[in-house]
Amino acid sequence: MPTTHIAENAHELALQNFDTAANAMDLDPDTRERIKYPERVLTVSIPVRMDNGRVHRFEGFRVQHSTARGPAKGGIRFHPQVTLDEVKALATWMTWKCAVVNIPFGGGKGGITCDPKHMSQIELEHMTRRYTSAILPLIGPEQDIPAPDVYTNPQTMAWIMDTYSMTKGYSIPGVVTGKPLSLGGSLGRNEATGRGVYYTVESACEHLKMHLHGARVIVQGFGNAGSVAAELLYKAGAHIIAVSDSTGCIYNRAGLNIPEVIQMKSLCGHLEGFPDAEAILPQEMFALECDILVPAALENMIHEANAASVNARIVAEAANGPLTPAADRILQDKGTFIIPDILCNAGGVTVSYFEWVQDTQHLFWDAKDIYKRLEHVMKVSFNDVLKIHTERKVPMRIAANMLGIGRVAEAVQIRGIYP
Ligand code: GLU
Repeated sequence: MPTTHIAENAHELALQNFDTAANAMDLDPDTRERIKYPERVLTVSIPVRMDNGRVHRFEGFRVQHSTARGPAKGGIRFHPQVTLDEVKALATWMTWKCAVVNIPFGGGKGGITCDPKHMSQIELEHMTRRYTSAILPLIGPEQDIPAPDVYTNPQTMAWIMDTYSMTKGYSIPGVVTGKPLSLGGSLGRNEATGRGVYYTVESACEHLKMHLHGARVIVQGFGNAGSVAAELLYKAGAHIIAVSDSTGCIYNRAGLNIPEVIQMKSLCGHLEGFPDAEAILPQEMFALECDILVPAALENMIHEANAASVNARIVAEAANGPLTPAADRILQDKGTFIIPDILCNAGGVTVSYFEWVQDTQHLFWDAKDIYKRLEHVMKVSFNDVLKIHTERKVPMRIAANMLGIGRVAEAVQIRGIYP
């Protein structure tokens, strides 16, 4: 099991990160006050008749942190630890993330406190549809566009799209991204987050004059983002020496055969028992010497108690908020090069943007085109952040926040205040 360390309030952390960057930019107090907090927060009650005949009430949220640069954009998370504060934090990060990669969206996020691993497909469908109907006044292709996040997937998006469309009376594929291809989804969306992580790691290696070929990599979290990043790094010749998921960690000093690990995980649903690997504990995994560590699970996985043992040259944040501020400071002091989440994992929302553009134009692009455009966006954004990092002598995280916050600040200043 991963070491969960959820004592720190994610929204407080997001606000702290904001203040650090806003101070470094010398952002004026009026603009700060306008862009720091969510614009809209909705809590909904979701009654669902469960398979056993009883009614269970779930709690759900949708937060629009900013619509200054365009419609709110961000995923929907199904997880037992979802709280309103977590959703607020994730929505805030989406605002800066979309601005860092310069796509015309604001930031939003949604979630339901539930345990999807212990729910049937029918229960999940009913919960998703009732949630969609509850947040319906907020969402729409020009208002707020949900997407997959932890434990939601293209099927979840299909249910949302169908519920929304049925209510409006006609099909509106652009209300969500990360849809199945048959409903107007985009090629490359499923693997976009992991692919974006890979492009930023390539850029970081180039900057640090490190070879990706032969680099030792650890991937914590083997879901959509982690497994795709692991596979692309493996194909580039890196040695993926350890990977973990919520069931355990596996390790092989010489490198794991990632396509086989992926195959086993899809067949058995866990990593444990993979041949040619040793089972280790999460704290042992974080302490392994490596070149690149990719935290690709939940928030706050690297914290005050385990950060000192991390032995990596690069930390590539495929997850949202995987480092607490204390861990961030410890790793900065060690000289670790951190590719911050709002840059590193922005490939997902970037291809979501491509999907939305394709839906709007009713014209679809081929996979090569998507990868080329994604690589371009990720590499330009990496260099934009790196430029602030080197010129202003601030850590990469602050540099990314300065870039994102600066773009949002410019938008609200030029729009003025209504009325
Ligand atoms: N949930 C993903 C993220 O945190 C993707 C959001 C989207 O595509 O809108 O970036």
